[in-house]
Amino acid sequence: MSDNKKPVAVQAVKGMNDILPPDSARWDWLEDKVRALMRRYGYLNIRTPIVEPTALFVRGLGEVTDIVEKEMYSFEDSMNGDHLSLRPENTAGVVRATIEHSMLYDGGKRLFYIGPMFRHERPQKGRYRQFHQVGAEALGFAGPDVDAELILMCRALWQDLGLKVGEDVRLELNSLGQPAERLAHRQALISYLEQHADALDEDARRRLHTNPLRILDTKNPAMQALVEAAPKLMDFLGEESLKHFNAVRAVLDGAGLPYRINPRLVRGMDYYNLTVFEWVTERLGSQGTVCGGGRYDTLIEQLGGKPAPAVGWGLGIERLLLLVQEVGAQPAPVVPHAYAVVPSHAALPQIMATIEALRAQGVSVLMHPGGPDGPTGMKSQFKKADASGAAFALVFGESELAQGVVAVKPLRGGGEQVLRSLTDVSAWSATLLAP
Ligand code: ATP
Ligand code: MG
Repeated sequence: MSDNKKPVAVQAVKGMNDILPPDSARWDWLEDKVRALMRRYGYLNIRTPIVEPTALFVRGLGEVTDIVEKEMYSFEDSMNGDHLSLRPENTAGVVRATIEHSMLYDGGKRLFYIGPMFRHERPQKGRYRQFHQVGAEALGFAGPDVDAELILMCRALWQDLGLKVGEDVRLELNSLGQPAERLAHRQALISYLEQHADALDEDARRRLHTNPLRILDTKNPAMQALVEAAPKLMDFLGEESLKHFNAVRAVLDGAGLPYRINPRLVRGMDYYNLTVFEWVTERLGSQGTVCGGGRYDTLIEQLGGKPAPAVGWGLGIERLLLLVQEVGAQPAPVVPHAYAVVPSHAALPQIMATIEALRAQGVSVLMHPGGPDGPTGMKSQFKKADASGAAFALVFGESELAQGVVAVKPLRGGGEQVLRSLTDVSAWSATLLAP
């Protein structure tokens, strides 16, 4: 490096964001709510690798899906040539782990994850290349109760986050039936679309024989009328599929959860059957889907496991936080309980031993006594104590230290300063926790 050349600062990859304080407190808050929710419903945490064999996603999600066709970060391991991908979603990874560790040998499992996903999309508000999902997966359960449970869990989370269900966020529901029913519908759909071939856009023409169901999901306004009048999958569902759908609906009705049946809701992965749903909002522009999920009874078998049903959902943390920031609850600001004001470095051993004892009692304590040459003035330390939002200053003045005490000074809303023993902190630490 030459003397007069400043090194160029390295920047984060486009579409991949740093999550910094104080904003990261919102993430902690949301994740705490999620963990508490999962405990209430009996879902246990699973953590799978961020990198998986590319084949997992090609086989799991389907070759002709947006994700596999154009959104995956795939690469060859330079050491051994393995084909790997950053996970674009985590249902396939969870299923792989479930199979690999024979997790369903003694019955169904309720699992959840929180973590980063990667998709090479055009970055914009609510759409990033590294984003984060919370997901819940119930594996080995066939009944409609579990579909409904997963949907009701989402509602409980929205409520915990101060969102108005039905207003800030709405439920859309559909049934995709079983593979044979989809096949019959698919044939009817293809012949309908073939009859209107000249009205199809390029994307639709390309998908006509590979993934015609996805054409129904088009965002092209010119094709809306055509898509509206297309054969509806709902009309091809057999008795069993309708029974499952109606049972899910009955639970939601009984729980007073409103929803809209959206026959065009098909979801972006091929693995879904029966129940599919999305939670949508009008408040985030075109990035309106906060959470999506459904049943995937064939995926476990498709990935080489013993056939077992499953159902789950995934939600986008960034979108949810954007929504909460606009219309939801505000997390309480993170402030320390106490701020230590330090007169001299000579007293640091005694002061820091006291602070450690307080922290062991659950009291959060901050201090910034200044640089290597000794503490800054008391006045400037008191200013910092005030700015920290702490309820108390712990003033370790020299005369107090000599008497074996610290002065506890309330910083908000008055109250008398009191002297407390340095050695017996457990006798008074609780007064700092609940002022
Ligand atoms: P979209 O239609 O908006 O692309 P999707 O159907 O691809 O969403 P899913 O694969 O169902 O999304 O993922 C579940 C959730 O993850 C979405 O509802 C959304 O909240 C979030 N999500 C998906 N892709 C992104 C992204 N690139 N950036 C931020 N959040 C995302
Ligand atoms: Mg997408």
